[in-house]
Amino acid sequence: MADAPAGAITVDEAVARMLALAASRHPGTETVDLHRALGRVLARDVMAGHDLPPFANSAMDGFAVRGADLSIHGDTCLRIAGTRYAGDPETAAIGPGECLRITTGAPLPSGADTVVIKERVRVEGHVLVVSAGEKAGANVRAAGEDIARGMRALAAGEVIGAARLGVLASLGCAHVEVTRQPRAAVLSSGDELVMPGRPLGHAQIHDSNGFSLAALAAEAGASLVHAPLPFRHVRDDRGVLREVLLAAAADADVIITSGGVSAGEKDLLPALLAELGEVVFWKVRMRPGMPVLCGTLGRTVVVGLPGNPVSGVVTFLLFVRPLLRALQGIAEPSSPRLHARLSAPIAKRHDRAEFMRARLEPHADGTLGVRVLPKQGSGMLHGVVVADALVVVPEDVRELDTGHVVEVIALPAGY
Ligand code: AMP
Ligand code: MG
Repeated sequence: MADAPAGAITVDEAVARMLALAASRHPGTETVDLHRALGRVLARDVMAGHDLPPFANSAMDGFAVRGADLSIHGDTCLRIAGTRYAGDPETAAIGPGECLRITTGAPLPSGADTVVIKERVRVEGHVLVVSAGEKAGANVRAAGEDIARGMRALAAGEVIGAARLGVLASLGCAHVEVTRQPRAAVLSSGDELVMPGRPLGHAQIHDSNGFSLAALAAEAGASLVHAPLPFRHVRDDRGVLREVLLAAAADADVIITSGGVSAGEKDLLPALLAELGEVVFWKVRMRPGMPVLCGTLGRTVVVGLPGNPVSGVVTFLLFVRPLLRALQGIAEPSSPRLHARLSAPIAKRHDRAEFMRARLEPHADGTLGVRVLPKQGSGMLHGVVVADALVVVPEDVRELDTGHVVEVIALPAGY
């Protein structure tokens, strides 16, 4: 099998060039309502303006007592002085020999430092009987024990998921400063492509990349310039492609194209990009996805992905997702790599890095296995449906045995 063509760069070099493009483009920021912040990226650190929890409170339903009152040997009898519910603004203290009935989240009365859970006591009229063995200080949440006032609760560059939304809400933030979403234009090229819903004529296929790539761009945090349509289709015509590219460049931070980057007569994009803008790289020493193209049109980054559906997904994951995430200020934009043991041997016959569709196999002994799928064709998109990971086979490796530890990229949720 043919090796990579002259001029093809390594995957690592291509990633580095993508990230360098992102580094020279500042995303800008905006303030959004908290309920619109899911999936967005914090533009600045969030310092806690108050303690969390804001006041000492009960972690359980039970009785607030003074730890010093509890007898180590026999029963302790305490007078039940009243009840305190969560949200109760009552501030009365308890004195020696007294206790308060208390519910989870209610402020601890001053004087009390311990909560005895109700399952472990006996109530006899107005008297609480606590057996020996209860620990002083138990079942109390101290003010600031989760997040202390002044502490950095969240850091710039973190993606706001459900837990971070909750922290922001707990700290009273109604609005949050986030980085601007990169605007992405997805263009799908090819005269053979027909929209789903239309019947297929001879030699035609439905356009799938437009939908997949638009979905991947959205998952990576971009907003789509062609919304409410996910993408725009372009014929294999130099004049049309030129016009659509220039229009998209005026609107988008990133243009993601599908198809037309190989060496065929209808593969128009590389030459056109060289004429209109600048080529940053064309062709990477990898499989699938070798013809991937990257360049700039003014301030707009253009990434030309190969038309084969699997090549498109793999090159998106390796290059476009990190670009879009870095443009949002995400500190670690690339997918993490894990290590796993091959469940069966693998082989390749070329000197390019290969990214094989695979399934992770977690074992009961705590180790992670990975099994490469039998169908590895770059047109076989169903392989990506079945896969949950890519096995990375380095350039210089030809064969690997069962049990060999390989690098694995888990496919992000949404792939
Ligand atoms: P290309 O990169 O344009 O040479 O296309 C490579 C292969 O991918 C060809 O078999 C195309 O028909 C196919 N292809 C290109 N674009 C798409 C698309 N948007 N959806 C599905 N398949 C595509
Ligand atoms: Mg084509």
